[in-house]
Amino acid sequence: MTMNRRGLLRSMAGAGMLSLTCAREQRAQEAAGQAARGMPAPKIKDIQVIETQPAGARLTVVKILTDQDGLYGYGCATFTQRAELVRVAVERYLKPLLLGRTTDRIEDIWQTAYDSSYWKNGPVLNNAISGVDEALWDIKGRQAGMPVYQLVGGKCREAVECFASARGGDPKAVIEASKEIVKRGFRYIRVGGGGEGGPGGSAAPRASNVLHNGPLYDRGATYRRTLKLLEECSGTFGAEIQWATDMHERYDPRQAVQFCKAVEKLNIFFIEDPLSPEDLAYFRQIREQCTTPLAMGELFNSPHEWQPLIQERLIDYIRCHVSQVGGFTPARKIALLGENFGVKTCWHAPGDLSPVGHMANVTLDIVSYNFGIQEWSPFNPRVLEVFHGCAEMKDPYLWVSEKPGWGIEVDEKAAAKFPFTDSGARSGLNGGWGDLRLADGTVIKQ
Ligand code: MG
Repeated sequence: MTMNRRGLLRSMAGAGMLSLTCAREQRAQEAAGQAARGMPAPKIKDIQVIETQPAGARLTVVKILTDQDGLYGYGCATFTQRAELVRVAVERYLKPLLLGRTTDRIEDIWQTAYDSSYWKNGPVLNNAISGVDEALWDIKGRQAGMPVYQLVGGKCREAVECFASARGGDPKAVIEASKEIVKRGFRYIRVGGGGEGGPGGSAAPRASNVLHNGPLYDRGATYRRTLKLLEECSGTFGAEIQWATDMHERYDPRQAVQFCKAVEKLNIFFIEDPLSPEDLAYFRQIREQCTTPLAMGELFNSPHEWQPLIQERLIDYIRCHVSQVGGFTPARKIALLGENFGVKTCWHAPGDLSPVGHMANVTLDIVSYNFGIQEWSPFNPRVLEVFHGCAEMKDPYLWVSEKPGWGIEVDEKAAAKFPFTDSGARSGLNGGWGDLRLADGTVIKQ
């Protein structure tokens, strides 16, 4: 084939460009190689499950050990109602899949673990993945000598404001408890409507027409009692104190719409979980009826649940349980999605997650511009015996650890002192919840 002069010049220019590109690539590869030589990629040597029940909830923590001496990490995989299944998911499925892989590739490992079951988005598998995911973030932080919050952009606030929960059998007791909370500096308080078997509620008198002997839930009575309680709290304290209540997905959808409308006039910072995940479509009706702020997501497992609510701006606070959605990696993505649509964060944080999970929450709070507020429940002293370096509460702010990784060490000997037990109010159910029924015997969601 012959080539004219212009073609020859074009070809020579192309070759020059090619050699320039190659040189640039080579330099980049050398730089990456230098960085990697300075910090060799650790490999997963073992994955262990630590189970402990120092104070009521069954806590599950995944520990990943690497091939580098002394380099390991912890992640929260706590699903207290089905704890034994999480252990099997980690030991029998994730461990064989992940042994020998480099700990550097957190996103890749998350996606690999997520896809390996083919069917996905369930609480057992998500909690198992969370344990691995958060352990890998811990390892990366320990490697870098930095807390995890530094690895995802650093702080955008100094500490994390929390709400506290005031409990009591009647409005007077709740108001007294609230006064103590206000004295400690909290500005946001959640009070419970409850009902027998409900959060913060007391046993309602049992009418003679109740057709069973088990825990009873009376939707109408709970509705009236909670509304009255919020009215009294709002009337007793000044406007600087704001209120919330948790409907715990127990009302029927029409009552939920009515309740959110009825509390619009009060100083509410949010109504929590007004609908069950099965009734999400009713959020549009609540939005059309009132401006009461809404928090939702404690039971969510799947992007199919939170994406529409965030994208359509149907809620104000996303309230997922971080280990339940698969750990720190997906929760960070949820926070960023929320930021784009004006939805704030309020990660679920009662006693049924480990202090490692609490630190993951606080880390998300401290780096997310759209942080709303954080739920806070104090650590039992026995929990502090097992977990060292927990997030510190200086009322009403929670402070993130400044130590590498999550900054938490698990005393495994202390953890072993508190094995899972099957005692307590729901004994015989292996940590599971019992049933809650209406007067006629109908079992309800809870
Ligand atoms: Mg709740």
